[in-house]
Amino acid sequence: MAEGVFTYSGGRVEPGETDDIRYPVSETYLGDPIRIPVTIINGEKPGPTVFLSAAVHGDELNGIEVVREVAQEWSHEGLEGTLVCLPVLNVPGFMAQERYLPIYDRDLNRSFPGAEDSTSARRMAARIFSEFVEPCDLGIDFHTSTRGRTNMLHVRADTDDPQVGRLAKAFASHVIISSQGPGGSLRREATDAGVPTITVEMGEAHRFQRDLIDCALDGVVSVLAEYGLRPIDAVRWPGWRTIVRDQDEKTWLRANAGGVVEMHHTQGALVHEGDRICTITNPFKAESDTVRAPFDGVIVGVLENPLVYPGNPLCHLVRLDADTLRAVEQEQPNAE
Ligand SMILES: [Zn+2]
Repeated sequence: MAEGVFTYSGGRVEPGETDDIRYPVSETYLGDPIRIPVTIINGEKPGPTVFLSAAVHGDELNGIEVVREVAQEWSHEGLEGTLVCLPVLNVPGFMAQERYLPIYDRDLNRSFPGAEDSTSARRMAARIFSEFVEPCDLGIDFHTSTRGRTNMLHVRADTDDPQVGRLAKAFASHVIISSQGPGGSLRREATDAGVPTITVEMGEAHRFQRDLIDCALDGVVSVLAEYGLRPIDAVRWPGWRTIVRDQDEKTWLRANAGGVVEMHHTQGALVHEGDRICTITNPFKAESDTVRAPFDGVIVGVLENPLVYPGNPLCHLVRLDADTLRAVEQEQPNAE
């Protein structure tokens, strides 16, 4: 790639230019192109190239608005580097309002880095990966909870990799859940290919949630400041932060009875050991099961659909150490 120029198959974006592109990644049953929207913003000054992607799961919408606002509403005057904005990766899933590619229900987010001579999902993934992910220096992939659940804004990243850890911290979320991520996922495969990448989880599917979108935009500002793309902005500190590495630092509380769930807390809430988290009742509203917090922690995710079988997940809880607990207690003085 020539100094400062962003090139892809079929085009180039010069320093100081912005291009909105519809890039073909597959074809429909009618033989028409399936094209993903891409905005390349090439700053006047050189610097890192960062991708921002959303809707690799087609019904996870919050990130779409984050990426669109960065691409279309921010001023990029003085940008030092290049932004590759990919607001809708899974176009067939987005059109059908479904998580997976409607073609055999494939998960596009298990199909990276892809291959040109493989399945439809992997061919699509290969186009996206080689054209718009591999040329980058780092990336942020936006997700929401799976349908029927919601979560507080948090980052998933392999913080044992120092470069990924730097990126994860720069996003300035309260909670970082550390893992390599599943094979075939965009963040795992991009990171393995030398493009440190984090996932941001925020809210629920099928919604635009303004408060979370604003919080994520602050995270993007902070990341771009950390890497010098927007030198006038400052790197944020979230007030308190916990990095959850091990299995014993987090747990999915599961239902031990079937029934209707009444949640007593929302995502992001602080709970102390023994606090009632939810109650599961039968159709006569006779109490059948009370679920209590096994340790002091923060509720990262909760179910939205209140109907459960025994074994269904109720709540994703992460443990807080004593210092972090005190910091959260100051932020949430009304916690039980
Ligand atoms: Zn997702």
